[in-house]
Amino acid sequence: MPLAIYVHTPFCPSKCGYCDFNSYAMTGEIVERTVAAIVREIKQSPLRGTSAKTIFFGGGTPTYLSSSQLIRILDAVMEVHPPIDGCEITSEANPGTVDSEKFSAMFAAGFNRISLGAQSFLDEDLIRLDRIHKASEIERAVGAAREAGFTSLNLDLMFALPSQSRVAWTKNLSKALSLQPEHLSLYCLTIEPNTAFYKKNLRGELDLPEDEIQREMYDECVARTAEIGLFQYEISNFSRPGYECRHNLCYWYGEDYVGYGPGAVGCVTIGGVSTRYTNLKHPDGYCRAVEAGTAIPFESEVLSPGIRNTERIMLGLRLNEGIPLGIADGQKIPMLVERGWVSADGERLKLTSEGRHFCSEVALELI
Ligand code: SF4
Repeated sequence: MPLAIYVHTPFCPSKCGYCDFNSYAMTGEIVERTVAAIVREIKQSPLRGTSAKTIFFGGGTPTYLSSSQLIRILDAVMEVHPPIDGCEITSEANPGTVDSEKFSAMFAAGFNRISLGAQSFLDEDLIRLDRIHKASEIERAVGAAREAGFTSLNLDLMFALPSQSRVAWTKNLSKALSLQPEHLSLYCLTIEPNTAFYKKNLRGELDLPEDEIQREMYDECVARTAEIGLFQYEISNFSRPGYECRHNLCYWYGEDYVGYGPGAVGCVTIGGVSTRYTNLKHPDGYCRAVEAGTAIPFESEVLSPGIRNTERIMLGLRLNEGIPLGIADGQKIPMLVERGWVSADGERLKLTSEGRHFCSEVALELI
């Protein structure tokens, strides 16, 4: 059965203040060494020969790598996991690390979808977030991607930013929609432990919008995307019909996926046993393990059918199509319907637009 393949490239030009991803501001020999190790990990995969239904390069910043480094990794994935017809092959990209030449090389190599980390179209927001790009570079990057041939483009956009007003958000959203992406992913800024923003917030240095304002920002995005035919198919994701992110849908459906690279997570079922693993996170430790031929996962967990079902409920509820009624504990459904948080049509259970603000609470009642 074809699988979703994820490749984690852990490098970024610098670390953003809010970021708790497995990313490192590193340069020099470790970058090339990590690329070689990722290629080696892929080529040694016990799942060699299983075809790919989606391939997704995330990070970090995949486009911090040169196009030839990206292509070497993609070639290895396609050799080990032959892509099925119509395989979606995405790379995340930072607008400050791309140009026409890089996008053209990536497109020629087989990438067919770009996910651009725009985040904001206002330079003052980008500076506060420690992003390396300027607002003007986003539009240039979109133009370069189109010129290279990409017809499937996502923009990542953040809201609830420090000092962000409703008016600023409206302008931001308008600018993003004016670029006519096929897909929009919306991220509410969350303050994670072990980030620079966490410390700033403790010191009272982040002026974050009130919950009510955040909710208005979200609702505005839902309404305005619908007006222009970008349909909400998941709590934070909007697309033109047929341009839903098929890779992320695999996660939301609770399907198996393979992860390669430092800190990559995979979930595979072999001989009826499902296991989730996480690779060593630090590039140096990861490279040493690959080079020595020792174990790369530093954590793994066998997932019982009960855990997998719980995850299917929690993740599947995020989708507009909801979950099959049969997988949820039905006792609390009448109460959730009465609160206006879910609707049930006899076969499927779905969050209402009100219920999307309470997804976690609903999931907890259903597991
Ligand atoms: S570009 Fe993305 S992965 Fe890299 S530091 Fe910033 S938020 Fe983290």
